[in-house]
Amino acid sequence: MKAAVVTKDHSVEVVDKTLRPLEHGEALLKMECCGVCHTDLHVKNGDFGDKTGVILGHEGVGVVEKVGPGVTSLKPGDRASVAWFYEGCGHCEYCNTGNETLCRSVKNAGYTVDGGMAEECIVKADYAVKVPDGLDPAAASSITCAGVTTYKAVKISHIHPGQWIAIYGLGGLGNLALQYAKNVFNAKVIAIDVNDAQLAFAKEMGADITINSRNEDAAKIIQEKVGGAHAAVVTAVARAAFNSAVDAVRAGGRVVAVGLPPESMDLNIPRLVLDGIQVVGSLVGTRKDLEEAFQFAAEGKVVPKVTKRPVADINAIFEEMEQGKIKGRMVIDFATH
Ligand code: NAD
Ligand code: ZN
Ligand code: ZN
Repeated sequence: MKAAVVTKDHSVEVVDKTLRPLEHGEALLKMECCGVCHTDLHVKNGDFGDKTGVILGHEGVGVVEKVGPGVTSLKPGDRASVAWFYEGCGHCEYCNTGNETLCRSVKNAGYTVDGGMAEECIVKADYAVKVPDGLDPAAASSITCAGVTTYKAVKISHIHPGQWIAIYGLGGLGNLALQYAKNVFNAKVIAIDVNDAQLAFAKEMGADITINSRNEDAAKIIQEKVGGAHAAVVTAVARAAFNSAVDAVRAGGRVVAVGLPPESMDLNIPRLVLDGIQVVGSLVGTRKDLEEAFQFAAEGKVVPKVTKRPVADINAIFEEMEQGKIKGRMVIDFATH
């Protein structure tokens, strides 16, 4: 079967691979779609260490072909996900308190274990979340990372209906953050990006205010126009956006860090203390979060903008991503290509 594998020189090669036999508790998925996340770009570039040889992909959706011994949660024919949260230990403090993505022995698809950017993928049945009927596989793939991550980030931003939330970065994640914030949490959205095309797209998706932070001081405008946002979700891959978000929220505001530029952000201590600002990191979402994120998409409240591409385009897609040319999500289509 064909698989997109990271090479030593930080590129991706589509190679023929044979998967090992299924073990206890595992299922084999025949992959339909796998979205290309900016995290895949970090992984193949070695931003989090050398990952030569791994099969990329953690925004995967496929149909169960067969199940190994002991599997009761999936059966052949079910459609299920391959997410970044591939497996937790199931018995630690984090796994037992609704924080399973923080499990210290976690396995991540397309990083510590082979992922879903392939014609076939092995999953742990109990950790693969079922896709609801009626949700298109390409749309579902985009929810499997971008959707659940931003749904969770907006959830933990503690935003209330009618309040202002600032979304920094309107790419693959950001446009879904906007849709969850508006259509599920009923918040008012300020969209901030450095790319006018992304901002025009955000406007179409219902952003109440758009700001291009390349030309303007986003934090200053947000303070002047709405008295500061109640919360901010930062998906931009740039430290400047994190710094701006801290200045853009009002006293008591919460900044949720999601993007992963391999850098540090500034944090003015008097600003933090005197204005009671909270800064929290958020990592993907639990299986339950993914189930909820899927359901809102199945109900049409969130509509991922996806473009299907063949796996042979993978290096071209990464170049387009680096140049900021992608609107919504590029999804590798294994079903028709
Ligand atoms: P993307 O490339 O699709 O989108 C990034 C967006 O940020 C683009 O629209 C770009 O124009 C914008 N941007 C760049 N610089 C900016 C700036 N200074 N201010 C405002 N906007 C700016 O990427 P993506 O797939 O949405 O992923 C975004 C980041 O989130 C990546 O670092 C990725 O690794 C990370 N991520 C984190 C999690 C998590 O669980 N925390 C999950 C998935 C992805
Ligand atoms: Zn991702
Ligand atoms: Zn654990």
